[in-house]
Amino acid sequence: MQLTLFELENDFRQHKKYINGLLKSKDEIIHLAKTEGKTRFYNVLSFGGGTQSSHLLEEHFRGNIDYDYIVFSDTGAEPEFIHEQVAWWMERQKMIGNTTPFIVTTHNSMKRGLEEMLMRYIFTDYQRFQMPLYFSKVDDNGEIKPAGMMPRQCTGDFKIIPVQQAVRNQIKSELGLSTRQPMPKNIAIIMDIGFSFDEINRVGGYVSHQSKYIYLSYPLIEEGFTTDDSIKFLEENQFPSRRSRCYLCPFNCDGKGLGMDWDEIIHAEPLSFLKACFFDEELRKAQASGRKNMQSIPYFHYSRQPLKEVYRKDYENLVRKYNNNLNHWLYEWKEFLLIKYCA
Ligand code: SF4
Repeated sequence: MQLTLFELENDFRQHKKYINGLLKSKDEIIHLAKTEGKTRFYNVLSFGGGTQSSHLLEEHFRGNIDYDYIVFSDTGAEPEFIHEQVAWWMERQKMIGNTTPFIVTTHNSMKRGLEEMLMRYIFTDYQRFQMPLYFSKVDDNGEIKPAGMMPRQCTGDFKIIPVQQAVRNQIKSELGLSTRQPMPKNIAIIMDIGFSFDEINRVGGYVSHQSKYIYLSYPLIEEGFTTDDSIKFLEENQFPSRRSRCYLCPFNCDGKGLGMDWDEIIHAEPLSFLKACFFDEELRKAQASGRKNMQSIPYFHYSRQPLKEVYRKDYENLVRKYNNNLNHWLYEWKEFLLIKYCA
């Protein structure tokens, strides 16, 4: 991989993730994989439709990074503007004549993604909750106090694992194997993840927890690029540059200019904001009902207040405009749950 670079300031080799052996350069990974008997390497881009993986995709289109597959996992809760960005990049691929297979995948059993998980959790007896919500709990004096955050399993379950499954199945099918047959021992998959240097703490290792023959590589970190560098690169080239995340992501913040603000969702995706308010409220009702294994009171907003209270004026305006759409969305979900889960 040869990215075009400005002078390196951010040196991953000085970081504890590298020093502690959780992060390796792609060259080191390839060398290691060869010593483990790997002779056939597949290079994959895990594409999220946002800024950093778009940066990597464009480097691929320019011939600077080699990929055998580009894979996008639809979490079922991306804002429409992210789907538009994904469509834009697919169109660009066609225009420039790049023919790398571009796979779109989803969660294996919950094809409608995070919305399905949430609806299932709220309206059925499903007990596995997979989002990093903020919690409060009532202490011994009856006061409500902050009580941490749930672990972030949604990225793994709805993005990383579906991408790995899709690639695994694709390679096995090309090799004439069924999905149940083991991968031949000489195969290695090197999956590029678009974490930037400022996100280096998100790196959890260089080998997938699911499959030992899937190695995880972080080219932007390796090259010292920050999130801002990728945004600048996209803007200078007049490419779409909105950051990807789910519309209801609890990591949304307020006015920090990160392109991950609740304000952006309120203005760009008003109905999605109302959906987030719906989930926020219904989850607390489900928790209070005692039929869930959730011990503490959940919130989507970091202030641990109801979303519709935090943005009360916006909420009231939007409810007036979009209530019918929201009800229609809910009706359609209830029909779906009834058929699939007998809810
Ligand atoms: S963007 Fe947020 S809600 Fe969506 S998968 Fe990632 S952490 Fe979870």
